[in-house]
Amino acid sequence: MKKLSNYVQDRWVDGAGKGTVLYDPVQGTALASADATGLDLNAAYDWARQSGGPALRDLGYAGRAALLGKIVDVLQANKEKYYDIALRNSGTVKADSAIDIEGGIFTLSWYAKAGAKLSSQSFLTDGDVTPLARDNVFAVQHIQVPIQGLAILINAFNFPSWGLWEKAAPALLSGVPIVVKPATSTAWLTYEMIRDVVEEGILPPGAISLICGRPDGLLDALNGLDIVSFTGSADTAATLRSHPRILRDGVKLNAETDSVNSAILGPDADPTSVELLVREVVRELTIKSGQKCTAIRRILVPEQSYDTIAQSLAQKLAKVTVGDPRQDGIRMGSLVNLAQLEAVRAGIAILEQHADILFDGREQLVIDAPTDSACLPPVLFGVRQPDDHPTVHDVEVFGPVATLIPYRDINHAWQLARRGMGSLVASIYSEDKAFLTHTALALGDSHGRVHLVTAAVSKVHTGHGNVMPQSNHGGPGRAGGGDELGGLRALSFYHRLVAVQAGPEVLADLLG
Ligand code: NAP
Repeated sequence: MKKLSNYVQDRWVDGAGKGTVLYDPVQGTALASADATGLDLNAAYDWARQSGGPALRDLGYAGRAALLGKIVDVLQANKEKYYDIALRNSGTVKADSAIDIEGGIFTLSWYAKAGAKLSSQSFLTDGDVTPLARDNVFAVQHIQVPIQGLAILINAFNFPSWGLWEKAAPALLSGVPIVVKPATSTAWLTYEMIRDVVEEGILPPGAISLICGRPDGLLDALNGLDIVSFTGSADTAATLRSHPRILRDGVKLNAETDSVNSAILGPDADPTSVELLVREVVRELTIKSGQKCTAIRRILVPEQSYDTIAQSLAQKLAKVTVGDPRQDGIRMGSLVNLAQLEAVRAGIAILEQHADILFDGREQLVIDAPTDSACLPPVLFGVRQPDDHPTVHDVEVFGPVATLIPYRDINHAWQLARRGMGSLVASIYSEDKAFLTHTALALGDSHGRVHLVTAAVSKVHTGHGNVMPQSNHGGPGRAGGGDELGGLRALSFYHRLVAVQAGPEVLADLLG
């Protein structure tokens, strides 16, 4: 069985323990083991800070952008291997693996291109010189300087490629060495990508480290000038937030957590809008078996449209073929592992107590997969009295599960969407421009992204769940309160804002 080593201090090091086994979720085969027991994390982090940080910063923004471009070339050259790993370890069909693999490469390329045009200075300016004294004899200029600590990138299981590169791209472009900690169950793809990049000798010594498995003291060896970028569940985020390095020493944490996102059909219930909503809901329920943080969990529709939308969704879901992603004609593969299958079943059991089942794919046959595989067909719930059922707004069932919800009027729709208490995204389907813009503003404070779909953009919109490097990703409240991507805004997290106060000549010298 393949052993996933750790990459620390520019060496591949095996863990000293037994390791955690990674499985094929459809065929049940043991694929690899990951272990980080016994690593000297203090030495590893010191090396990253002292060697990787200065070497990256010496290159300047354009030099680092060029490195991202070289990483893209290496990943492109090895893509077929990555698809094979995803097929075996994540149980995803090729189109779903592409969202992770191509999405990661696209995000890297975007930052490689955008970074090439950045400042030739070693810092970024923020705003203009602002006088602090009469006649401008003393003033302030805000600048953003790259942090001189390291960034730990902790990722969730569902995006072993995209989750890695969407964090690594802005960190490396900023000149910050990274320590990558993928989710153990799907760490193989992350491991293989980093191994390929390391073997090509693209990054300077200390710029990248990899920890597979879950070592003791991952955060203990940090200091107050390091940062943590986390993606995963709200429960894990809460554990990390209470760690003394974060709570007491001020380590900066960005958390991207779970979310009960919604899709909203406008009160006009325009026939094209209905069609676009139904298509998007089915896509979101089935892509990666619904294991996407941005997936649609609640479908809000005008009361009078509830029955017809329920029927349309059920008809389309009945055609979804679920099974072994190796077989032709399979649209939806499996969940990531049996533990995730159990977690989704437990979530379904909670929703069953409060909601009606409108479509139950579990009654369908799973095709060409063993009965003990982690395949689970889609389940659609519905609640006619959504105000009385807090669980449908609260429970994130991280699988092919969503709930149809009727609303009385626009205010009721907004109120229900906001009951997610902070979501990553809401998508809205309507031909009523005023409704769309009012909704964007009404939901702006509770959502990280608002995706407005009209017939005019039906063929070009980027999709409810797709996270584009140009757009903000993150959400308030239970979504973690974090911000990622958003174009070059992402670099802010890896920089510190400093106010430089001086006379005009010194500031002119600073700004070159
Ligand atoms: P998870 O169990 O919270 O794990 C996330 C990561 O944290 C993994 O790498 C995990 O390592 C690590 N971890 C867990 N406990 C830790 C601890 N005490 N100290 C340090 N690291 C720790 O989440 P998951 O099951 O992988 O992912 C599913 C969740 O992620 C869902 O709730 C989903 O909504 C959310 N998610 C959010 C986004 C977003 O952008 N908002 C994106 C994707 C997923 P191990 O694997 O070794 O346990």
